[in-house]
Amino acid sequence: MHALTCPICNALSGFVNQRCPECGTTVGVHLPSRSLLVASEEGVDVDGRRWVRCSNWDTTGCNWLTLAEVDDSSIGLRGRCFPGSLVRRHPDADDTIALEKLTSTSRDMRMLIYQLVDLGLPVEPFWRTDGGLAFDLLSSQTTGQQVLIGHANGVITIDLAESLDAYRERLRVDLGEPYRTMLGHFRHEVGHYYEHILVETGDGATEYLDKCREIFGDERASYADAIDRHYKYGAPRDWRKSYISEYATMHPWEDFAECFAHYLHITGTIDTARESGLMLESDQVRFTMNRDIVPLESYADEPIERLLYDWKWLSMMFNRVNAAMGRRPLYPFEIPQPVVRKLGFVHRVIRESAKRSTAVDPLVDTPAPA
Ligand SMILES: [Zn+2]
Ligand SMILES: [Zn+2]
Repeated sequence: MHALTCPICNALSGFVNQRCPECGTTVGVHLPSRSLLVASEEGVDVDGRRWVRCSNWDTTGCNWLTLAEVDDSSIGLRGRCFPGSLVRRHPDADDTIALEKLTSTSRDMRMLIYQLVDLGLPVEPFWRTDGGLAFDLLSSQTTGQQVLIGHANGVITIDLAESLDAYRERLRVDLGEPYRTMLGHFRHEVGHYYEHILVETGDGATEYLDKCREIFGDERASYADAIDRHYKYGAPRDWRKSYISEYATMHPWEDFAECFAHYLHITGTIDTARESGLMLESDQVRFTMNRDIVPLESYADEPIERLLYDWKWLSMMFNRVNAAMGRRPLYPFEIPQPVVRKLGFVHRVIRESAKRSTAVDPLVDTPAPA
């Protein structure tokens, strides 16, 4: 994640604060410029357009800015910031228990959208395009029904109950998963969305689909059968040789979504390390390390192996740091060779799609310098 800084004092203000922790200035995230701006009551002008606080500023503590006046292309905002506008359903206003969970969940969702836009991926809202991206943030604790986390035709459904540590942790243990977070859910589900719009349909589809089937398997295999098999027999004993997780073994779609999530985990974390000025110097360590690890500004034009090599050393370091605090590893996964190939495919689809999407969207694109 970018180290967002206060526009007044240049202190690190971070991604979620409405006030600079150093000087107290009210700040808001301006997505097109990927920066914080002073978020006064009356708003701030950027390139002739006025940006104001998101209408969820006081309710769920959103710290993003939104266009004050909207035209036809941004009519769906209705006072909300861009990520907020993607929420199609959320708990009723009188459901205070569920609404409480909305605060942290919305924060994770904003992190997701920020990263997708930063990677150059198209984020087409459901209110502008049929089948566009939408989020249903519901709580199985208050609806009385089990909310199934999933994706269908652009709509990502999230169970808000998973924002409760005790609830989510129990599921994690029951399911034998090494890692389970709300951000992880978002990253996984959006992987289904992008496989659908970039690989199975869309501009690059014909070229990608064959390759995708060769690497991940045929996605036309029955999904219902796959679920039955997975929950009856579990993952194959030797799954570690070719998959990133047990869940990825269930169906080619899940394998792709898991790899997509890992791509976001890895790039997002390396980015955070780089923005913190972190590098690993090989002549400063007691063990053998072939070269310095200096995280790159962008891995877009690098082979996946370069990204994963840097990640191997960085994640090893993060895991040891966590162990020093008596915590589980930050990244409790191993990446076997077949998964390198899968991540390479995800890398390629993301890079090429980012290069193809040249349309300027005033909600998310930085205006070109004059
Ligand atoms: Zn400040
Ligand atoms: Zn917002």
